[in-house]
Amino acid sequence: MTFAATVLTLYPEMFPGPLGVSLAGRALSEGKWTINPVQIRDFATDKHRTVDDTPAGGGAGMVLKVDILAAAIDHARSLSPDAPVIAMTPRGKPITQTRVRELAAGPGVTVLCGRFEGFDERIFEGRGVEEVSVGDIVLSGGEPAALMLLDACIRLLPGVMGAPSSGTEESFEDGLLEYPHYTRPTEWEGRTIPEVLRSGDHAKIATWRKQKAEDDTRLRRPDLWERHRDARDQSASGARHENEDLGS
Ligand code: SAH
Repeated sequence: MTFAATVLTLYPEMFPGPLGVSLAGRALSEGKWTINPVQIRDFATDKHRTVDDTPAGGGAGMVLKVDILAAAIDHARSLSPDAPVIAMTPRGKPITQTRVRELAAGPGVTVLCGRFEGFDERIFEGRGVEEVSVGDIVLSGGEPAALMLLDACIRLLPGVMGAPSSGTEESFEDGLLEYPHYTRPTEWEGRTIPEVLRSGDHAKIATWRKQKAEDDTRLRRPDLWERHRDARDQSASGARHENEDLGS
């Protein structure tokens, strides 16, 4: 199955952009995914091809018009009826590796890129659009966010990454950051590679890596650590309940 990406944007020339090179670029030329950048301006109805208007209530900037956005989304849905429509916005739900995995397992995605102050709010409910953020930063447009989301999906498509296991051991795949990596030279500017990684003892290495992943997550990302711990506790208590149920 080919993963079909449709991107609704005022700057279609930005696509595939960086996704046309390296891993994603090779996969694109091999037909493992497709990209269809659609110019939102093509759905404007006046002779100036207007896509934005001033914000209701006043204030700075311009807002993308709901009727134009709806026409662009309807067009995308007619091409890819089963693909979820995702709007890139800092007001959205922060993207997670879990959501990326779900998307990558599906038929593709339609990504709506904002500009200026963003979208008329009515579009989200009106067209069943999922709002996604790529982090607590403000970009000048949704395009770099779309490239980021698509890149994360594409690397998970079957046959795109070299070693399949390198996909599952990554950061976030088990709710933790990944352990740190090292490679030759063994000593660099007085800094060495941790002894255990040179021991050849695979069990010991696995234990060290697991410990490091947990320690680093706890120190660097207390938010992730808390969620990981809650999930672990919950699955432990779930297992206990199951045993109790079996016992009764
Ligand atoms: N006024 C908006 C920001 C608009 S930035 C606000 O304060 O919430 C212009 C466009 O860039 C947005 O419509 C969105 O498509 C994109 N964008 C900016 N930051 C983003 C982020 N963190 N995640 C996803 N998209 C983002």
